[in-house]
Amino acid sequence: MARYVLVSDTTLSHTYRNVPLLDFMASAPTSKLPGSIYSFMKGPPPASVNGRAKFAPYSLRKLEGALLKENSPKDVVVVQETHIQDFVDEDTEIIGVSTMDPLGLGPLTMSYSVFFETSAPAYVHKEFNDLMERINRIRKGKKAKLLVGGPGVWELTVRPEELNKNNIDFAFQGEADDIACDLFRYVGEGGGENTEFYKGFQTFDEHFHKSWMSDERFISRYQFSRQFPTLDEIPDIAGPTVKGMVEVMRGCGIGCDFCEVTLRPLRYYPPERVRREIQVNLAAAMTNAWLHSDEFFAYEHGRNFVPNEEALLDLLTTVMGTRGMGHTNPTHGRISIPAAYPELMGKMAAAIRAGPDNWIGLQVGVETGSDRLALLHMPNKTLPLKVGPDGSWSSIVWSGTKVMNENYWRPAFTVQVGQAGETPEDNWETVALINKMSNSTLDNGRPFEFTITPMQNVPLGHLKARTFTSIKLNESQLAVYYACYRHLAKIATRNATNASDDSNAFIRAVTGGLIGLGGWAMFRVVSSICKKGGLDLDKAANYGSTRSVIEVPMITR
Ligand code: SF4
Repeated sequence: MARYVLVSDTTLSHTYRNVPLLDFMASAPTSKLPGSIYSFMKGPPPASVNGRAKFAPYSLRKLEGALLKENSPKDVVVVQETHIQDFVDEDTEIIGVSTMDPLGLGPLTMSYSVFFETSAPAYVHKEFNDLMERINRIRKGKKAKLLVGGPGVWELTVRPEELNKNNIDFAFQGEADDIACDLFRYVGEGGGENTEFYKGFQTFDEHFHKSWMSDERFISRYQFSRQFPTLDEIPDIAGPTVKGMVEVMRGCGIGCDFCEVTLRPLRYYPPERVRREIQVNLAAAMTNAWLHSDEFFAYEHGRNFVPNEEALLDLLTTVMGTRGMGHTNPTHGRISIPAAYPELMGKMAAAIRAGPDNWIGLQVGVETGSDRLALLHMPNKTLPLKVGPDGSWSSIVWSGTKVMNENYWRPAFTVQVGQAGETPEDNWETVALINKMSNSTLDNGRPFEFTITPMQNVPLGHLKARTFTSIKLNESQLAVYYACYRHLAKIATRNATNASDDSNAFIRAVTGGLIGLGGWAMFRVVSSICKKGGLDLDKAANYGSTRSVIEVPMITR
């Protein structure tokens, strides 16, 4: 039995058959995706060792590491989700849950809810509710408090009533690496008067102006104290992580006006520190390393966000030079760097041994195809290139994709629908970009390799009032969804056979079949909804596909 029992949101602990982007399925509405297909694609229950999670989400491992500074390993347990009851008894003080999208209000989940005009819960929401219900049953009659934290806590600040509904004692908002021991002691003692913590949460308006809201159910770092740990105060992970994720930096600094990450201070992990965490994963035979950051190319960047070639290559060679390491990929990066620095992309590809049998996935927020919106919301995201003098935003994205593909990097793009100030012309520019890239080939004739997923911006008022199903997508917005899913169906068919790396040939075949069929089934549904919404499907399928593209100038060091 343990003093502190830690568990993750169950949508974060599964492997989704190791198919890139399949974990997006958890955002689908329960009314639209059959439970049997979701369960199959989610994969088997997470591995465990004597009830403890063999691999756990990175955020939970960081919390574990922080608590172990002042507690013994027998008091801090990261459990596999089906074994919570084995570790909770009369002495358990806190059950801590880390969550990402507990109420299904994230942009991807919202894209499905708004598009299908459904208020049915998404799988992320359903699974969170189920987990809360189970934990409450297990802790009934015991003193253990239920504390929820993680990047998804902002959703609970939007709908605080969900805390009462789920019988959650407290939600913690913010980074807790340096104060986790104090926080857990404080909650264990009942969460009363205290000057180290603020009873409430931070909230932001549409211009990211911060204000504090008092609420007894929330705990934040004290308002007038430092809001973030320094690099030295962040602990190493103490156990292996899902997909071998390790962090390489926090913060970003590029300043896109819709992004909260940019408000956090920049902290870079030195390569040797990254190696230490990788070795924890390798000890559990996890030979993969997902290098987490919100903007990998900004690692130790120079003036004007010029990439730091030495630092990037040093980091990647350190990772790949760690004995036993098999595959690595950064999680997020911006497209202007491949567009401007093809040589750097080639060197990085060589460092991580990219090749026809080892494609490197990277999530890239393209956000729009419109120069106007790019300049309005994310003028620095293109740096050191500039929209205008160096070409259009679309040509930067197209050139960056070409360079990435030539070096066996596969971008997973996201675009936004419903951005502040968006016009139909902006959306049609996004459609043109998607269609152009979907029809493009490399010099050797190979088609461009990328996925593209629409993300819906929903105004806070609609999220609070649960009126997002009243949002009606206009023709140009439907066209963005249509172009995205048309391309995804194409890619799903092309890559279905190699999608899964499961050792079981039957599972591989079923997974590949479901991905191929699923891509086209989804596209048929999307087409039908778009047609009913008045979209001219032929126009949306062809718009901009034959536009000429001017490659952006390469920057040499
Ligand atoms: S580049 Fe990405 S992480 Fe950085 S501010 Fe822009 S959207 Fe946020």
